[in-house]
Amino acid sequence: MTTITKIVLASGNPGKVREINRLFADCGIEILPQSEFDVPDVAETGTTFVENAIIKARHAAECTGLPAIADDSGIEVDALHARPGVWSARYAGENATDQDNNAKMLSELEGVPESERSARYQCLIVFMRDQNDPVPIITQGSWEGRILEAPRGQGGFGYDPIFYVPTHECSAAELPLEVKNTISHRAVALNAMLEELKKHRYI
Ligand code: IMP
Repeated sequence: MTTITKIVLASGNPGKVREINRLFADCGIEILPQSEFDVPDVAETGTTFVENAIIKARHAAECTGLPAIADDSGIEVDALHARPGVWSARYAGENATDQDNNAKMLSELEGVPESERSARYQCLIVFMRDQNDPVPIITQGSWEGRILEAPRGQGGFGYDPIFYVPTHECSAAELPLEVKNTISHRAVALNAMLEELKKHRYI
C-alpha cells in the first residue's frame, strides 16, 4: 500500500483549500489547489452531485498525475421539489451572482409559509487514486435548515444569507466561519472522507 502525501483539490476556491488543508495537515497530507497546475475547468455535465464530483476529480488526476479530491455541493428546497440541487450555482442563469440566485429563490418562495420552507445543503466528496481508479471513495454530508423571507448576515457565501440554521437560531451568514466549518454539509463529508482514507490506509 502506497502512503499518499500530496493530493490535488479539483477546485480553486481559496476557502475550500484552506478548510481542507486545516483538516488534513495533521495527517501529513498536503492539499494542492488545481490552479497550481493550470488545470482548466471541466464542464459539470452530470445530473447528480456524485457524477459531477467524479468528473472533476478524474480531470484533476488526469492533468496532474496526482491523487485527486473533488467536491460538488448545492441546496435542495422541498417546496421547489429539491431544486436547484446540482444547478445551485447556475440557478438564475449561467453567469448568475449569489445575489441573483438568492433573489430568484425568495421570489419563487413568495407566499410559502415558514412550515413549508425546509431545505438542506448537500455535499458529495470523491477521492480518486488516479484517473482510472475504478473504486473512487465517496462520502456525503447534508445540513438541514429553512429558507428565510429576507437575507440576514454578511458572512459565508452563496445561499448562506437566506439559509436559517435552527440549531443556532441564525442564518448561515451570521455564523462565525469556525462554527460553520464544524457543522456544515462540507465539514461532515470531509470528516467522513478523512476517516475513509485512514481506514483504507492511504494516509
Ligand atoms: P460547487 O460545489 O462549488 O459547484 O457549488 C455549488 C453551489 O452550491 C455554490 O455556488 C452555492 O451556490 C451553493 N453552495 C454550496 N455550498 C454552499 C455553502 O456552504 N453555502 C452557501 N451556498 C453553498
